[in-house]
Amino acid sequence: MIALLITFWYIAVPVALIVVLAFVLPRIIRTIRKNRYFASEEFLAKKAELAAVVAEHNEVAAYTSEIRGGAKFQLGVSSTGTTSYLASFENTSAHKYRRDRNVASYQAPNVHNCSLQVVRNASADPIKYLMKYFGIKADEATLGDVENLGDAIARLEAAVANLHQREAGITASIKPPAFILNHYSDEFMGHVGVELSPITVPYPVYAFEYVSAGGNSSQRSTVTLNTPTIDALVGTMSQKIKFNKSAAGQRALMTARLRALIKTRDQHTCRYCSVSLAAEPHLLLEVDHVIPVSKGGMTTEDNLQTLCWRCNRTKSNKIFAV
Ligand SMILES: [Zn+2]
Repeated sequence: MIALLITFWYIAVPVALIVVLAFVLPRIIRTIRKNRYFASEEFLAKKAELAAVVAEHNEVAAYTSEIRGGAKFQLGVSSTGTTSYLASFENTSAHKYRRDRNVASYQAPNVHNCSLQVVRNASADPIKYLMKYFGIKADEATLGDVENLGDAIARLEAAVANLHQREAGITASIKPPAFILNHYSDEFMGHVGVELSPITVPYPVYAFEYVSAGGNSSQRSTVTLNTPTIDALVGTMSQKIKFNKSAAGQRALMTARLRALIKTRDQHTCRYCSVSLAAEPHLLLEVDHVIPVSKGGMTTEDNLQTLCWRCNRTKSNKIFAV
């Protein structure tokens, strides 16, 4: 190889030069331009101007991780495989007959191992099968758990979307050159002081799985507990529940529709501090129980109010402190 290079140096040298010119040089130039941009007075002035906006973004990011950490993103568990850890499984077939391409997912609480018929029925009627095989009972306490999960998902979705809006707003006010956004978008946010949040919404996923005896085939139906699924589950459960007297007739169902209704009723304005979406376009608003469910408050329209994230955060900190 080296001998070849030496013999054909008159080809090798220009080729190496072309490689340097085409690939390495543009990167070096881009790095120099980038460093110059981040040190420029124009950038530093805009950064200083937006310091308060960035600080608030980072506070919302911290709040988002509080929502993520404070809620349980799990509902029922499968009854199959709960003691499977006590046994060990081995396919002892002779090599040419081994068909363990598909192995059942025992020990996974969100996977129900079942017959092919159940897998198919579950895909046709997911809510019914979810309740039946993952132990989600139609009673008031479980309905409360499902509504809490729906609330946590809605709050986290709104907070994550709000962070993205704020980040887009910050980028739009600084207007960095296109090459910065194309090649250094994360670095740009870092220089501005924005703490990017890696949080996504951990939707619980439940699966019905059939694996044939020989491991030759497997089929699966999957149900993701996102807002539409949770709202459907809340609806089905409430129809089955015979509510006790204090709840009967007046209890509302905590769904996306009700949350939207409360925000509209309150004109997208915080009931504590009166800040509104009209005055603050990136305002994160939440629907709160006036008397918390944990203190006997019910989901009724007059026990629900719109609060901005700051007031809701302060309120829940006070409740935890008591
Ligand atoms: Zn407020």
